[in-house]
Amino acid sequence: MADSRTMQVVRTVDAIRELVSAARADGCSIGLVPTMGALHHAHVSLMDAARRDCDFTVVSVFVNPTQFGPNEDYERYPRDEAADLSTCRSAGVDAVFLPAVGEMYAPEAVTAVRVAGLTSGLCGAFRPGHFDGVATVVAKLLNIVQPDRAYFGEKDAQQLAVIRRVVIDLDMPTEVVGCPTVREESGLAVSSRNAYLSSAERVRAQSLYAALQAGRARILSGERDAESVIGTMRSVIDPAGSAKVDYVSIVEPATMQPVARIEDPVLLALAVRIGGTRLIDNLTVDPSADSL
Ligand code: AMP
Repeated sequence: MADSRTMQVVRTVDAIRELVSAARADGCSIGLVPTMGALHHAHVSLMDAARRDCDFTVVSVFVNPTQFGPNEDYERYPRDEAADLSTCRSAGVDAVFLPAVGEMYAPEAVTAVRVAGLTSGLCGAFRPGHFDGVATVVAKLLNIVQPDRAYFGEKDAQQLAVIRRVVIDLDMPTEVVGCPTVREESGLAVSSRNAYLSSAERVRAQSLYAALQAGRARILSGERDAESVIGTMRSVIDPAGSAKVDYVSIVEPATMQPVARIEDPVLLALAVRIGGTRLIDNLTVDPSADSL
């Protein structure tokens, strides 16, 4: 679609609704890629997937204050609107929705979406309120744009599970599409927060993926005891002990609940602070189907 039209950039709920209605009236299916900007090639992979499946692709760029804790990086989160628009234009996006905070949250708003259970462990345990903020803003974006499909990265596996749950539980008519994690050649998962890393920290950050690979290798060699595999993974993350591990966990992928014995596909998930930067990564391992 974007080849025959220029990309539209809008900042209000009314304006994006108008663009989407016009596209629908033209018979287009609608894809949405929600982002917080600082766009990189992993975001572009989501845009590519949306463009493949849908006639009209919307990217939202909104650094959502309600998903950041008081001591987190909301203020210093990287923002570069001009670069983001240029990335979206090159990717062939049809419309970019760039709301200001006041456009998304009226001062009198008091409604939030809270997902229980799924959010108690992993990042939910270390970032109180984070997934309420994510679930609420994504529910709002899905209501505003009303896409046929919405695209999210598997890199944020717990977030993806939360969003799948919200869409089912609130009867939203959108298909949630999970997209594979995009990595640098070193294995480091691409992330906007990688911009915070010094070059030495970037090297240390490679231990996250190395740990996931080591865990996978243990499982595929026949180890079924989750604690033992977690021990191996922990020993790979910065053995000198200068990284701060928030968690290394093995969970059931749909519920995010810890498993003790690894018999079915599991998600290996970890969060580590390298210097001042909190990084997450994960890997799904099927003990019966995967091979080394
Ligand atoms: P963010 O701007 O970080 O909130 O990310 C926007 C979307 O891009 C989310 O659905 C993320 O899961 C996804 N994403 C971010 N990094 C990656 C990556 N390395 N691989 C795949 N998806 C990603």
